Amino acid sequence: MTAFGTVFTDEMTISWNNGNSWSTPEFVPSNSLNLHPAAHVLHYSSTCFEGLKAFRHQDGSVKVFRMDQNIKRFAQSTDLLYLPAIDAALTQQMIVDAVAKFSDQVPPAPGSLYIRPTHMGTDPAVGKAAAPSATSVQFILLSPVGDYFSGGGEVALRVLLNEDGMRSAPHMGMVKSGGNYASALGPIMQAKQAVNADQVLFCPNGDVQETGAANFILFDGNEVITKALDESFLHGITRDSILTLARDRGMHVQERELSVEELLERAAKPGCEAALSGTAAVLTSVGTLIYRGQEYQVGNGKPGQTTQALRKVLNDIQWGLAEDTHGWLTTI
Ligand SMILES: *Cc1c(COP(=O)(O)O)cnc(C)c1O
Repeated sequence: MTAFGTVFTDEMTISWNNGNSWSTPEFVPSNSLNLHPAAHVLHYSSTCFEGLKAFRHQDGSVKVFRMDQNIKRFAQSTDLLYLPAIDAALTQQMIVDAVAKFSDQVPPAPGSLYIRPTHMGTDPAVGKAAAPSATSVQFILLSPVGDYFSGGGEVALRVLLNEDGMRSAPHMGMVKSGGNYASALGPIMQAKQAVNADQVLFCPNGDVQETGAANFILFDGNEVITKALDESFLHGITRDSILTLARDRGMHVQERELSVEELLERAAKPGCEAALSGTAAVLTSVGTLIYRGQEYQVGNGKPGQTTQALRKVLNDIQWGLAEDTHGWLTTI
């Protein structure tokens, strides 16, 4: 199996904004993009993206999961970067047209079609370090992906708690923007090298926030605890979906501050589980927390039952094996 997100359909949909309006979307080859070397995005990271998935159901139909929410977040990221506003209806049409054209390349379960809308500033002006790009380009890349857990099932992750740094500047947390991932890379690479960690959980001043590209959720018996929405971190749609499904099941969902101290205290209890949530990996167990040179097992250190059960409930909806009671799927 090839690495996640390295295979693309031959074409993508694209639309340019000349500072006034969006061009009529077109299909173009997905292996090149013609940008001026001075393009704003290449120097000042005026870029944002989305990640969502299309699923093939057993009857052959293709459904996109929570597309409205991804488009809403794409619009928000765009606004926070002062890029030309997207037209939500146009972006939706570009996604729908792209998925429809390549619907035969949507793999059946446990695979899916990963959809990557991207928006970037194109002004050819290196003098605009402190000014927004008036022009931009938007495109929808498609990547058929397999089972994230192929090759022997799920392994619980090792996660380093980082209290000293932060993933991104606090006012950039809600923006799904390239620069944030570059910003988190140093701490992630250091954590891999120093303690063989898979991910870094950013906990600025002891406030448990999120990892480089996923939200953090704690399951303790019937309690579900995760940070309340604020400007400092990315509002995951998987996070929202898991919390909704947990509430449906009568679990006590608490969106509030979680301190490192409380996290370590709860993690030590048998039956406690921790997980990372995001579109790519859905819900992935955290087995070990590493803090100030010490390792703390979460529960029994293995993939947790609640985590696996909630992931299955979500996957079943996505693959059409359970009723879509919240109206999350759009038929293509
Ligand atoms: C994309 C992302 C998430 C997860 O969002 P989903 O909508 O669930 O895919 C969480 N944190 C960061 C930093 C992200 O980039």
